[in-house]
Amino acid sequence: MNSSGMGKQREIDVLGINQKLQVLQRENPEILTLEIVDTSDWMPVYKLTVRSQSSLKRKVRVFVSSGVHGNEPEAVRVALHWLERVLENPRLLEQLEIVMIPMVNPGGLSRFLRTTFIDKLDLNRTFQLHVEQHWDPESESPHHGSIAQKIMTNPRDENFDLAVDLHGSIYATGFFIVGSKESLDLAKRVVDQMDVVWFAVPPDGKFPGKIGTVNDPNRYEVLSPGISVSSNSGTLRQFHQEHLRTPYSSTLEYPQRLESSVGRHAILLEILENIVGQVLVEKLGP
Ligand SMILES: [Zn+2]
Repeated sequence: MNSSGMGKQREIDVLGINQKLQVLQRENPEILTLEIVDTSDWMPVYKLTVRSQSSLKRKVRVFVSSGVHGNEPEAVRVALHWLERVLENPRLLEQLEIVMIPMVNPGGLSRFLRTTFIDKLDLNRTFQLHVEQHWDPESESPHHGSIAQKIMTNPRDENFDLAVDLHGSIYATGFFIVGSKESLDLAKRVVDQMDVVWFAVPPDGKFPGKIGTVNDPNRYEVLSPGISVSSNSGTLRQFHQEHLRTPYSSTLEYPQRLESSVGRHAILLEILENIVGQVLVEKLGP
């Protein structure tokens, strides 16, 4: 299970991953569909859907996104690794329906840039309400309004139980989860079942406390280890919460300063699996 790549390469091999997605589609033709929902920096943005036949009346619908910021490559590797593990797990395939955009910002990912390459957009400030007012289908400009548009206008998609947007933080001391109150109650249950040393705390160790950058020291308020709130607007998480009414929507951040890339990968994967697991238990029972 090393095909999603855990090597030392800094930037993501976007073309290689696109090919890998096509291979996964060919290997799972009955359940996995792959479509191009947008172009960004002249590169395709893929959305994949995993939906198998099931005896369940209602599956748990999960949206997973990664690579909104191109300098957070571990998020993409973990999202794909998680997908592969689900595809190998008949029980999860029975219970889950997955919509995934693994590389929201392929141009940034191929160059290890936080923003898009051409427009230098921080995409996690662009998922605004009423995005249709800004969306011009005639425009050839690489514009991401259409990703939000696509998610929003497909009625079947407006019914997610859970959305997780995977990111990496350059300043946090540990993993942390940002979300609505409901999402944080769920995240707290996940943190409580893991080793607390993995999770971010404020610099002075007192709660609540702030973590952030030099320019923006108050970006996140940490309420307890790994549990935080943010006032950033235009995030994909907020788009889910406010616009799609996704009951559990969170941003999950790994600490880029954690030296062990194996640790970054393994813990991020474990947190993601535990979040999904919590929602499965809640919706379908133990
Ligand atoms: Zn990020």
